[in-house]
Amino acid sequence: NDKKINEFRMMPYGKENVLLISRDITRIAQLEAMRGDFVANVSHELRTPLTVMNGYIEMLPYSELAEDSLAQKACVEMHKQSKHMQDLVDDLLILSRIESSAEKIYDNVIDMANIMRQIEIDAQRLNSDKGHTITFHVDPNLQVYGVATELRSAISNLVFNALNYTPNNGEIEVHWYRYAGKAVCKVIDNGQGIERKHIRRLTERFYRVDQARSRQTGGSGLGLSIVKHVLNHHNSSLNVKSRLGHGSEFSFSLPHQLVIPFSKTK
Ligand code: ADP
Repeated sequence: NDKKINEFRMMPYGKENVLLISRDITRIAQLEAMRGDFVANVSHELRTPLTVMNGYIEMLPYSELAEDSLAQKACVEMHKQSKHMQDLVDDLLILSRIESSAEKIYDNVIDMANIMRQIEIDAQRLNSDKGHTITFHVDPNLQVYGVATELRSAISNLVFNALNYTPNNGEIEVHWYRYAGKAVCKVIDNGQGIERKHIRRLTERFYRVDQARSRQTGGSGLGLSIVKHVLNHHNSSLNVKSRLGHGSEFSFSLPHQLVIPFSKTK
């Protein structure tokens, strides 16, 4: 369609005036939408064949083939890689959906205590071979307006990162509380931490502090990018505090317009 899109910027002009600058960004917006559509379509198309492949590969270790030790090794590696590809495609799809999300954030009241419970169950499952102590401190009466799937995905990503980037037997805390009329979420770990110079770039797509190691942990490199877009959609942004070798704290607060006042939750 040929609707024009303009970007406006205000700048001080002299002592009492402001200058309104308008720029036609129609073409940029069209290209950006095309890129988003393309990524969404490719991810969607790749999903089915990958699921089928993964299903067969998962069965291979139980077949006659697996009696051969080389074939057994190949099966394990193929399964790992195809699972990784599946996670990547899933995250690409989530990211492009969120990027173009037109879902209204004020339409639904989210029961965050319930979402936190689900995230805790998933985290404990993932923790079975890591030995971390994970504690959730959740205000049961703190509900917000928003998109439940998006907020769940954002908080899950922060929690799973804390689990993955903390050496075994670490300590992970998740907080959800009311502060100065806002809703605050904090995920704290005492893991490997992040050097200051990387922090600014963490939410870029596929940005990883240590490419080789991150690939081993199996993430897609899109987790924090998803978090950034979800928070953007909810008028918020991600704060990161970290000390190399000591741990990290990822947090965000949802503005008071999204927080349900006490009276409504009782
Ligand atoms: P990935 O799939 O690689 O985990 P993310 O976008 O979720 O991708 O994270 C980007 C990078 O940020 C990670 O590769 C890792 O280097 C770093 N990172 C994220 N969370 C933590 C954390 N809790 N502790 C240390 N490093 C982290």
